[in-house]
Amino acid sequence: MKYIDEFRDGELAQKIASRIAAEADPSRSYHLMEFCGGHTHAISRYGIAELLQANVQMVHGPGCPVCVLPIGRIDQAIRLAMEHGAIVCTYGDTMRVPASDGLSMIKAKARGADIRMVYSAADALTVAEKNPQREVVFFAIGFETTTPPTALVIREAKARGLKNFSVLCCHVLTPPAIVHLLESPEVKQYGIVPIDGFIGPAHVSIVIGSRPYESFAEIYRKPVVIAGFEPLDVMQAILMLVRQVNEGRAEVENEFSRAVDRDGNLLAQQMMDEVMELRESFEWRGFGSVPHSARRIRAAYAEFDAETRFALDYQPVPDHKACECGAILRGVKRPSDCKLFGTVCTPENPMGSCMVSSEGACAAHYTYGRFRDIPVVAA
Ligand code: SF4
Repeated sequence: MKYIDEFRDGELAQKIASRIAAEADPSRSYHLMEFCGGHTHAISRYGIAELLQANVQMVHGPGCPVCVLPIGRIDQAIRLAMEHGAIVCTYGDTMRVPASDGLSMIKAKARGADIRMVYSAADALTVAEKNPQREVVFFAIGFETTTPPTALVIREAKARGLKNFSVLCCHVLTPPAIVHLLESPEVKQYGIVPIDGFIGPAHVSIVIGSRPYESFAEIYRKPVVIAGFEPLDVMQAILMLVRQVNEGRAEVENEFSRAVDRDGNLLAQQMMDEVMELRESFEWRGFGSVPHSARRIRAAYAEFDAETRFALDYQPVPDHKACECGAILRGVKRPSDCKLFGTVCTPENPMGSCMVSSEGACAAHYTYGRFRDIPVVAA
């Protein structure tokens, strides 16, 4: 299949792996963070880490939208359904993330809350139109990829004069999260998380373009290569990063030139800016409050803002004590470092958000990589 098979060619993957091996300097190490959960999934699924020599290491980043959603926001969505009697619509993975009091959205649904899985923001709008007597809230999560469709339905709801539709807007932004990570003591002060470069997300960059990464590549001297999600995309990006590190360059390069350009999708950006503005700060799981890292609905569209409409307050809630999701999202730990991994916590019974989505580091490692953790005992 065009753009699929040619980017999954095993022989080519071996050739790129040989190039990486030939060009990586054996006297140093390369720690490359894949920001996005889509890349984490690809790296686990295709065994990419196993194709690399020991001094080229991948570090999981925080770019899985379900994973970074803090418990307090899921509690808000549950409250909307259980206390305010709203129909709450959201994407499938969001429904399984553990919330307070042993609940999740799907468990709340089992207790009678009207919570519905939708495939798109537009589906939530349809639910609102079909239920004019009920309040319908779309619990909107995700990075810049899923933000434009949310902005579009808010604009559409206004144009259609819908009175029973609102959005709990929890859309987050990629560049501020990367900067926050680079400014964290674990990276900056103590070097606990060494980062020599980033693989940048493909779909986010289709929307925002490659330009927003340029300032931090320059300021923090970290190379960025934007890459697609097929295995050869990721392998090629690793090779490009190794070359930048070797040459002492810190530039933004674009491996995914088949869909990403420097400016991104200007129409989508315009629509997001028309309907939404930056929040002063927003809590991310594992990161705490990150300045200017999320969007809220502008005053001109306040009637569609569920936080305003239902006078919701926000209460931060700590994660399960034994769950290491926060440290995993910051690149400090790996899934196998968590005592609950694969025993108490599995994709069927997730104790933390990283085990929910296929893009979560724990779920990806459970599905594809856990067998490699077991040492082979000689007969
Ligand atoms: S294995 Fe489960 S409990 Fe442990 S860090 Fe991952 S999601 Fe959290």
